[in-house]
Amino acid sequence: MTQEETDKKYMRRCIQLAGNGRQSAKPNPMVGAVLVAGGRIIGEGYHVRCGEGHAEVNCFASVSTEDEVLLSRSTLYVSLEPCSHFGRTPPCADLIIRKGVPRVVVGCVDPFAKVQGRGIRKLQEAGAEVVVGVLEDECRELNRRFITFNTALRPYILLKWAQTADGFLDDHFRPMQISTAFTRMLTHKLRAENDAILVGRVTAERDRPRLDVREWSGRDPRRLVLSSATSIDKILDECYQEGLQSLIVEGGGKTLESFMERDLWDEIRVETGTIAAGAGTRAPRLPGNLRVVRVENYDGNEIITYERKS
Ligand SMILES: [Zn+2]
Repeated sequence: MTQEETDKKYMRRCIQLAGNGRQSAKPNPMVGAVLVAGGRIIGEGYHVRCGEGHAEVNCFASVSTEDEVLLSRSTLYVSLEPCSHFGRTPPCADLIIRKGVPRVVVGCVDPFAKVQGRGIRKLQEAGAEVVVGVLEDECRELNRRFITFNTALRPYILLKWAQTADGFLDDHFRPMQISTAFTRMLTHKLRAENDAILVGRVTAERDRPRLDVREWSGRDPRRLVLSSATSIDKILDECYQEGLQSLIVEGGGKTLESFMERDLWDEIRVETGTIAAGAGTRAPRLPGNLRVVRVENYDGNEIITYERKS
């Protein structure tokens, strides 16, 4: 195995570990770290919970006493650039230097203004070899919400709707069940993974959706209603000020379109059912600048996930 292949292998493990923090690391990013010496993993860790140890801290803490001597010959793999500032915990870059790790492989740079390359520079100045950008896309993908929030200064926006086989949101303007028991559960899982959920005023008053996660475990997202008094700008600003990193927009059609018209979206998920309605509210038209990232089929229903064309 070449060095590059080896680096990818251990970075893949970092990403896997990082994902364990999906529900609890927020508002911090998900991060995984692995220590390798002599072709063997001697330590692993991930960021479990905001306010507690970072991935690197947990990784070092997992190294056994007899393996401590190997640190001076080890490589530390970490999916996100180590921090360099004093937050609720001391900087991880300092810890890595103190532990004498000579080589550090970083998945992607931290876009957070207080870090942004400083952690990497600190390590290099201390004499460590630093490799940046191994499985960079995957590492960025992992923290899309965190990265969008910290670079676009607004929540990550996910537009989502279900439509009939012939492209209507309802049946002759009357609500109809398009999702299946299974896809409904997926919707609740998605809600648990995001910070806020928004519907338009008409949908809120007519359908009285509960917008909670009763068919999955986790926190209910903050419920927001869009009206003329709470414009999109106000809502996004409120989310940013309150640290809500992601927003699901679940309808209705006009609300979804108003986000697309202003090009305010990062991901779109469309579920298409098996039954045709014949007439009703037309499903929103997809914008032109997108690409399909995933197609899933459950009980005949198809869920297509789109992202922005880069
Ligand atoms: Zn840190």
